[in-house]
Amino acid sequence: MLEKILIANRGEIALRILRACREMDIKTVAVHSTADRDLKHVRLADESVCIGPPSSLDSYLNIPAIICAAEVTNASAIHPGYGFLSENAEFAEQVETSGFKFIGPSPKAIRTMGDKVAAIKAMKKAGVPTVPGSDGPLTDNKERNLEIARKIGYPVIIKAAGGGGGRGMRVVNAEGSLLNSIQLTKSEAGAAFGNDTVYMEKYLEKPRHIEVQVLADSHGNAIHLAERDCSMQRRHQKVVEEAPAPGITPEQRSYIGDRCAAACKKMKYEGAGTFEFLYENGEFYFIEMNTRVQVEHPVTEMITGVDVIREQISIASGNPLRFRQQDIQVRGHAIECRLNAEDSRTFMPSPGTIDHYHAPGGPGVRLDTHIYSGYTVPPYYDSMIGKLITYGNTRESAIARMNGALSELIIDGINTNIELQQDILSDAKFVAGGTDIHYLEKKLGIH
Ligand code: ADP
Repeated sequence: MLEKILIANRGEIALRILRACREMDIKTVAVHSTADRDLKHVRLADESVCIGPPSSLDSYLNIPAIICAAEVTNASAIHPGYGFLSENAEFAEQVETSGFKFIGPSPKAIRTMGDKVAAIKAMKKAGVPTVPGSDGPLTDNKERNLEIARKIGYPVIIKAAGGGGGRGMRVVNAEGSLLNSIQLTKSEAGAAFGNDTVYMEKYLEKPRHIEVQVLADSHGNAIHLAERDCSMQRRHQKVVEEAPAPGITPEQRSYIGDRCAAACKKMKYEGAGTFEFLYENGEFYFIEMNTRVQVEHPVTEMITGVDVIREQISIASGNPLRFRQQDIQVRGHAIECRLNAEDSRTFMPSPGTIDHYHAPGGPGVRLDTHIYSGYTVPPYYDSMIGKLITYGNTRESAIARMNGALSELIIDGINTNIELQQDILSDAKFVAGGTDIHYLEKKLGIH
């Protein structure tokens, strides 16, 4: 097993990784900005190194500073968490050429999946269902582009190959605005991502977001850990996630999960990963692959009993997977509510000092958070301050436990989205299950 892991992240995920390392008897190095000296995992780590000023660019995105910290602490590996440098192929490459193990897939895999056109091509080749589309970049041939759209059928969506975070796409409802929209998306993509390649897909009008968690080792084994439903979104940000996805049958689960696992084998993928799909009228359509651990991984852990971070570390240590597909059983239901330091109605970020904090408890309640009474949420980073996860034998029981846990949870001193989460959890359509990706924004009156 790896001996010492440097955690190149902050907040709840840094603490989550630290906890896995402790359980595995692996030493830890925390790196932090000057604004993050008081983070819980920094206090708990075996060693810590300050890597720069508050701005992410100068600290958590500062590759030389992170690699230097690994050098001086003699770490054996670097865990990137999610966000920051976790899907930066150049970082993965520099980590490896500096003699450390990058806990994640190869730079090549990260690069391929970071280019959506290349990712879709790889998926089609591996037998994963994709959205009907242009099958590659759009050219300047206007007639050809009009023809592609006619064949797909309107509405269509123009997407940037290098896009991310829900940016770089445009929906086109009718032929009259197609060519103009392609030009606009192209120039925006060039300016925003330094890559003006765009492609076209059928625009799905009422899809759900369903994603499949996979684990693959360096010995050619790959399995899936069932699916999550993350359709409750605002501005392409997930708000509530759950596993399994309501209404997905065991047959559908095996069908899509086996295809994802097979694709990992074909691509010689290593580590944890997520295949994201839009799901409409009983069909799955691949949209992108995330080559890292995701915020919502706990719901998968709760229903499968597999510790995803532990497996990432074990795979990076060169061990074969400890599970075969037939060992993975889906049991019960889990829900995750993201806790943000923001106003429930205006969504304005609300950094500041938490003067009183009280955590909920009881059967099936898990709270992944780095906050504590007296902790100050800095204004420089993402507003997520934790994740409340509940588990039950049934979806109803997981919902009931979440309602109880949300009402027990006290975070005073800053604004949080607890009220919004309570609203969602008591929403009749959510309780029924299977809402689409536009549901929350419609409910909130945002269009
Ligand atoms: P990003 O990397 O920016 O997150 P994705 O390709 O994952 O980009 O798409 C982000 C979101 O955009 C999806 O979750 C979905 O809401 C919407 N979207 C993308 N492609 C389509 C499509 N073909 N039809 C309908 N909605 C889409």
